[in-house]
Amino acid sequence: MGAGGDLRSPPEWGLERTLATLLGETPGLASMTDHRRGDLPGEGVAITGVGHGSLGERLGLLPGDRIVAMNGQPVRDLLDVQFHGAAEELELVVARGDGEEWELSVAKDAGVGLGLELQPMEIQTCDNHCVFCFVYQNPRGQRSSLYVKDEDYRFSFLHGHYITLSNLTEEEYRRIIEQRLSPLYVSVHATDPGLRAYLLRGKHMAPVVPQLQRLIRGGITLHTQIVLCPGINDGDHLRRTVADLAELHPGVRSVAVVPVGLTDHRKGLPVLQRADEAYARRFLVDIEALQDACLGRLGSRFVFAADEWFVLAGSPIPPAADYEGYPQIADGVGSMALFREELRVALAHSHPRPGRFCFFTGKLFGPTLAAHVAAVAESSVGWQGRVVYLENRFFGAGITVAGLLSGADVRRGLAQCQSGEIPVIPDVMLAEDRNTFLDSLTVAQLRREIHPGLTVVAAGAEGLLSAGDGHAACHAAHCSL
Ligand code: SF4
Repeated sequence: MGAGGDLRSPPEWGLERTLATLLGETPGLASMTDHRRGDLPGEGVAITGVGHGSLGERLGLLPGDRIVAMNGQPVRDLLDVQFHGAAEELELVVARGDGEEWELSVAKDAGVGLGLELQPMEIQTCDNHCVFCFVYQNPRGQRSSLYVKDEDYRFSFLHGHYITLSNLTEEEYRRIIEQRLSPLYVSVHATDPGLRAYLLRGKHMAPVVPQLQRLIRGGITLHTQIVLCPGINDGDHLRRTVADLAELHPGVRSVAVVPVGLTDHRKGLPVLQRADEAYARRFLVDIEALQDACLGRLGSRFVFAADEWFVLAGSPIPPAADYEGYPQIADGVGSMALFREELRVALAHSHPRPGRFCFFTGKLFGPTLAAHVAAVAESSVGWQGRVVYLENRFFGAGITVAGLLSGADVRRGLAQCQSGEIPVIPDVMLAEDRNTFLDSLTVAQLRREIHPGLTVVAAGAEGLLSAGDGHAACHAAHCSL
């Protein structure tokens, strides 16, 4: 299932990771020729936009055209366009709406983009029925995108989504290796084949270790994840899984262990236990022992506990250095240490715009954020803030991260806003449009109905300090404060 977040390890492919945009420069264009071919079926990838002054524009490409082949290879999606488009010599086959196809020959500098926007990729889905799958735990009647069981190696490469490898075809294995789609993010959960099959409840579960080995032999780096279900894949199973993955280091670069997330909507699903404080404390002792062993043997802690474990156990968040460059930040592992570090640096260099702010977050990050807000207030003239931790009534009180709060949860919180305060939410609560909540309520609606000053900031320390800037923009457009 996909993992949220924007930060992840830099791509090893050497090309920019963009989902639907391939904007590039034109100066590298050396020459081009074209001639018309006969009528052929319109396959390939549709162009949805052509950058002004781009190489694509100079080639005469238009929105609606389809790139059918590049350098003799059929084009399946935008990753193919990125891969083949990096070459200095390009042979393009382009289809126009009337069914005609054109061949274009281009000589350009390597890495110069075509400057095109392409149709987004349709996400592939899984055949698994994992005992902890969030899709089955969603409240009913929400928008359809909440029920998509995504399992797509392309989105794993582009966005750090976790995949189980259970739906990967031979052709896809070959493509991953040929196009160096690295790193990939793999949900392992357990290396014991029987236990993994029980957890994933998939139809055709091949043992995961040989699958990982095959990718590693092909030059692919892997970051892995274990969703820990107390009493099922913990204890000796966890130790075996980490030991098996450590055998694959450095091909397997890291392991994140996250606690299973259970909502109030698990009717008819397997009974799973939630980790409590005592469990989290024991777990952290185990993880520390595993980290020490890995550090001695591999030169890396290798296995990293999600932030939730520290909050649950009431233990301090480890120092930034312990996260070794945050290889699992896309999974939220180390985000609290990173926030603390970024805030320290940002406060030393910036003076946040004064104002009175009310920050909304989930119960998980609430106390930590409150401490940070107090520190900012102490060091910044005219800057005041307080934090309201919102209970998640959309999924249930057991879900405590900010990113899974709904618009209705925020709406309740806005009622607690005091006169003169600017309410602030992080953008992780919203879809990519920075407007729509999980339950389809929108920021625009809440501004209209409840508080015109509702401000959205980027998640992270810079976002916290920019709360006053956001309000200035909002003030100009809507705000009556
Ligand atoms: S069933 Fe499993 S693999 Fe599929 S989306 Fe759900 S958690 Fe992910």
